[in-house]
Amino acid sequence: MAGSHTPHKPASYIDAFRDEDCIECGDCLSGCKYMDLDAEEAVEGVRRLRAGADWGPYLDRCVFCAQCNLRCPVDAQPAALILERLRERRRDLGHLPGFFAYYLNGMERLGSSENYFKDIYLASNPEAKKIIDEWSEPKQGDDLLWCGCGNRINPQNIEHSKILADLPKFGGVSDCCGVNAAKTGLYDTARHVTDNLIERLSQCRFKRLVVSCGSCQEHFRLIWPAYFGQEFPFEVISLYEYIDEQMAKGKFSVQRTVGLEAALSDACYGHLFGEKYLGTVRRLCQAVGIDTVPLAHQGADTACCGVAGFARNLDAAGVLEAMKIKAGDIRQSGRDNVLHYCMGCHTITSMTYRVKSHYLLDKVLWALGDEMTSSIFIPKSVREKAVMKYQDPGRFRLQMI
Ligand code: SF4
Ligand code: SF4
Repeated sequence: MAGSHTPHKPASYIDAFRDEDCIECGDCLSGCKYMDLDAEEAVEGVRRLRAGADWGPYLDRCVFCAQCNLRCPVDAQPAALILERLRERRRDLGHLPGFFAYYLNGMERLGSSENYFKDIYLASNPEAKKIIDEWSEPKQGDDLLWCGCGNRINPQNIEHSKILADLPKFGGVSDCCGVNAAKTGLYDTARHVTDNLIERLSQCRFKRLVVSCGSCQEHFRLIWPAYFGQEFPFEVISLYEYIDEQMAKGKFSVQRTVGLEAALSDACYGHLFGEKYLGTVRRLCQAVGIDTVPLAHQGADTACCGVAGFARNLDAAGVLEAMKIKAGDIRQSGRDNVLHYCMGCHTITSMTYRVKSHYLLDKVLWALGDEMTSSIFIPKSVREKAVMKYQDPGRFRLQMI
């Protein structure tokens, strides 16, 4: 990475909204399956949204999927305006609930004394710690595997993977892409966290960043350029695309088939990466022997796994509300198994849905010959601390930067 160029530094999400182009047609909100508004109500909603007046009840239904951008006839980017209102909600609160400050990686540098991911690292076994310490060191190679927060919870499978052996791995205990802050309205925090990562990545030498987490990829490729006015000076590809590419070159082949029938759950970012990405996912499913059926809401119309419900009010109850459509789709699919290519969707589904959830990357690596001997393990002490912080009314003041 040779350094980055910043032509324009926006002050917030609002810069991405083209207010002067908006004709207040209401199409963005009237077509939204979460808003459930008729045409007249949608126009009124847009007026309030633009004026910044009394938009709370609408915000409480939104899952920040940005599908409204696709419905806008003049490409005004209404999702940016919605994120701005979310930012105002955070700002009006003036502080961040202790639980969320604890969970958000990168907050340590803003004054939070403890961090969930760091506590997992501190409580993990010596082998896992050694792997993460090694991942923390700057690396070089044409392709670099970015190991984000999710990967570092269970580093052994990636470290010992024969399929990923040629990829240098990078990602220290406090390194974070910033997507969670960016998608919860914490604009300045996201900039700070991502700037830190850019500085860390600048110590590495590589041409392509290979990313297993789709949310990180969405941040690198879409959110950061759209809302923060900055392009990353390297190509970002998903780990699925990397594996597919290596398989096409004949480097790996399927050693055993998975033999699974599952409903395929699209992530919110899937369609944003384009048909090439979705085609790769489908090809890999087929190659490793997973028979999938689509959900009623898929692709650009996919429903939220529930995680966005947390972003609205930083309250777990919001998750149950936000997941209703996806849960209904899964029930309607008639399959007892659901397959996710998104680690976040898989985690939420494993914790809250009644069906058995599977993560595509694990299945692919196993089918290609990896043993996948370890699994995600959150030490009891960390789980208890997280619950205690969630229940504790004590607040951590968000340090505005
Ligand atoms: S971001 Fe998604 S949920 Fe929110 S208004 Fe737009 S389409 Fe609806
Ligand atoms: S943002 Fe676009 S879709 Fe929404 S009211 Fe304005 S012009 Fe219509």
